[in-house]
Amino acid sequence: RGESGPIAVLAVDDRQGDVRGFDADDVQLLETVANHAATALRNGQLVDRLRHESLHDPLTLLPNRTMLQRELSRRLAEPSRPPLAVGILDLNEFKDVNDTLGHHQGDLLLREVAERLAGAVDSSVFVGRLGGDEFAIVCPEHTGEGAERIGEQLLRVFERPFLVDDLELTVSASVGISLAPDHGITPQALLKCADLAMYEAKQSGGGVRVFQPSSDTTSRSRLALVTHLRQAILADEVQIHLQPKIQLDDGSLRGVEALARWTHAEHGSVPPAEFIPLAERSGMISPLTERILRRAVEACAEWQPALPGIGVAVNISLRTLTDDSLPLLVDHLLRANALDPELLTLEITESSILSDPERILRLLRDLRARGVRLSIDDFGTGYTTLYYLRHLPVNEVKIDKSFFLYGPEGSCDPIIVRSIVDLGRNLGLSVVAEGIADQQIWNDLVTLGCELGQGNAIHAPAPPSECRDWMIAYSAGAHLATIPINVIGPS
Ligand code: C2E
Ligand code: MG
Ligand code: MG
Repeated sequence: RGESGPIAVLAVDDRQGDVRGFDADDVQLLETVANHAATALRNGQLVDRLRHESLHDPLTLLPNRTMLQRELSRRLAEPSRPPLAVGILDLNEFKDVNDTLGHHQGDLLLREVAERLAGAVDSSVFVGRLGGDEFAIVCPEHTGEGAERIGEQLLRVFERPFLVDDLELTVSASVGISLAPDHGITPQALLKCADLAMYEAKQSGGGVRVFQPSSDTTSRSRLALVTHLRQAILADEVQIHLQPKIQLDDGSLRGVEALARWTHAEHGSVPPAEFIPLAERSGMISPLTERILRRAVEACAEWQPALPGIGVAVNISLRTLTDDSLPLLVDHLLRANALDPELLTLEITESSILSDPERILRLLRDLRARGVRLSIDDFGTGYTTLYYLRHLPVNEVKIDKSFFLYGPEGSCDPIIVRSIVDLGRNLGLSVVAEGIADQQIWNDLVTLGCELGQGNAIHAPAPPSECRDWMIAYSAGAHLATIPINVIGPS
């Protein structure tokens, strides 16, 4: 018997020889034979199931990457060398779905996408899932136009919105296609070219792209950037710059923010907005955060004798927040440098909190219980509801710099700034304005009651030793010359 009833029947009849019929001993013997056969059959089924599972993706039930590679190798090895097209399809902004709605909803969406993709093409087209939000197709096709048509056929499944737990989601995708033998004759070469083409499609806003050997160099240099970043992180070449944070109405120094800096040998300085997402996508964010935290905590401990009580803030990205080892790392660094936990602030962006509120709330409480300060960065740009803000164990909110208009007419968006300042005050949080680029904005912020601020009008981010020297001179009295006279008043 199998799990769902009999899997086989052993039929015994018509005994030959002089003895007719079967006695009890015969029955016992036959039962033993049946049991042995059943075990062999069950093992066979188990092996089949394991083989199937090792070649399929459990979420969408589509063939997985291993199966794709096998299928590609098989088709490429056929003696007739049939032409083939290999496509990679990647959802646009899938991370946002995961971040804002959660992984459960993300999974449901992927399942629905898989079902629609498999149903959109005929059985000669192989459809598989490479992992994450990436799907692959293989089909017998030899012209770029033909392959493009299949890509467009796939994209048509995104014309209708997806219904996920009663929510209607509009999703789009990018497709990159490579052709054998034109672009390669191995699975690796074809997948890489399709991937580069997909990246190009994504850069230009989606749609279908067939690989062009001429665009290879720019894409390759982008891939090389990831490799160089990885090497730079492992060699501890990513530096920090520090930007002071002051109390806006009297100019007193209150802390600094550490900002990651990377100088590439060929491309020069790469902005963090570019390399932090690269590090997140290539699984390098944890080692990067660890090194930046270490540099920041060490620098802060080092200036304590000269600048007692001046703490440091470090930006923490979502991927690091969902890594349970963060509290232990923080503990270890603080202890190793004998630094008071209150002198370390972790800045987290608003949107990251909503990706998995329960889990992140637990982690934030844990960090807060260890005495570390917490700050919500880029406040006003995400979707933090008042409910969460009330329940988050945070000490500070930072008003996003997009609320300040620069230029000769530089000013703040007074309604937003005043609302955030009031909100902060009512919830007992410090309010920091970031990106104070000129004196006008500084003045406005003081008028609106904003307590703290940082920005190039005060001091631009600078290497740790330079910033430390500036802070020492500033605290010793130089700041009186820097801050606008109408801020501190004539006294
Ligand atoms: P953020 O945490 O909101 O940092 C403030 C950004 O404002 C910094 O940009 C800073 O250089 C810039 N800024 C400061 N004063 C002014 C000003 O007066 N005018 C203007 N226009 N900008 C000003 P930066 O260094 O390019 O960093 C950008 C973002 O990258 C940061 O935004 C943060 O979200 C992220 N980031 C930087 N370092 C790290 C890091 O070590 N880890 C993580 N996870 N993210 C980081
Ligand atoms: Mg920040
Ligand atoms: Mg910010």
